[in-house]
Amino acid sequence: MTDTAVQLPGWRHIYSGKVRNLYEPADSVPGESDTLLVVATDRISAFDHILAPGIPDKGKILTQLSLWWFERLADELDVANHVVSTEVPAAVAGRAMVVKRLDMFPIEAIARGYLTGSGLAEYRTNGKVTGIELPAGLVDGSKLEPAIFTPSAKAAVGDHDENISFAVMTARIGHETADDIRVKTLQLYTTAERIARNAGIILADTKVEYGVDERGVMTLGDEVLTPDSSRFWDAELYRPGRPQESFDKQFVRDWLASEASGWDQASDTPPPELPDDVVEKTAQRYLEAYRRLTGRAFN
Ligand code: ATP
Ligand code: MG
Repeated sequence: MTDTAVQLPGWRHIYSGKVRNLYEPADSVPGESDTLLVVATDRISAFDHILAPGIPDKGKILTQLSLWWFERLADELDVANHVVSTEVPAAVAGRAMVVKRLDMFPIEAIARGYLTGSGLAEYRTNGKVTGIELPAGLVDGSKLEPAIFTPSAKAAVGDHDENISFAVMTARIGHETADDIRVKTLQLYTTAERIARNAGIILADTKVEYGVDERGVMTLGDEVLTPDSSRFWDAELYRPGRPQESFDKQFVRDWLASEASGWDQASDTPPPELPDDVVEKTAQRYLEAYRRLTGRAFN
């Protein structure tokens, strides 16, 4: 399922992100309901483009894994989450959840325990990531101790998210709120890193989003700790100094960046269709992440 706006009985479509479609109750005043329906489609995005085709069952895997983490983390962390129920229309069973409607902060809260990706790229230019000075001599995959909080600003649709310093984040949403998000995100990372490690996965980094509910309570929203929002590495094969074996969408990014795809990221042409074997191997990686973390097969 990759449609941008499937009609669902009892719900009114209000928004389509790159991966998720949002709905509000059809009988509510537009914009004013307490709840939303969040539907994860099988769409996959990379480098801020939506790719074709989708990855079979990806939306279900993301939703089930997020729900697993929300439950797992509820006992260990002092942060509310947006999940209300999993009673959803049959057409989106397994891939949707009813959530508290939040006023989201326009910030991607990122914690990194290992250096790679855009963090590594920035480090190579100035020895820092979002203004945080790091030791010299780090390589692709180096462990960061302690883990660091490296926010980015959520871009408007079609634009690229942009890494920002904590000072800029503070200027945008206020010091107290920014600090609360930083502390909560690092706690979440530390807890999840330990849980993942016990499952043979290194949680290299992760991105979460927060909002406030109608009473002003800071609440974890969106998805958590999925292969779309996180880097999951095979702990057994981990070796710093090179790209790591991963159970996330790095595989797709690598293919797009390779000569095989024939795509020039810097051009404004859309990315090419993913070949069948790239789709298949990506699906296998998402399934493996789910299997290892939850200890059960996906069905
Ligand atoms: P964009 O929204 O910029 O397209 P995206 O591609 O990551 O970003 P999706 O993940 O596809 O978006 O869509 C989910 C959208 O729903 C995000 O904008 C996210 O901030 C928002 N969202 C998630 N949980 C809630 C919530 N409880 N209340 C309100 N909005 C939410
Ligand atoms: Mg998202």
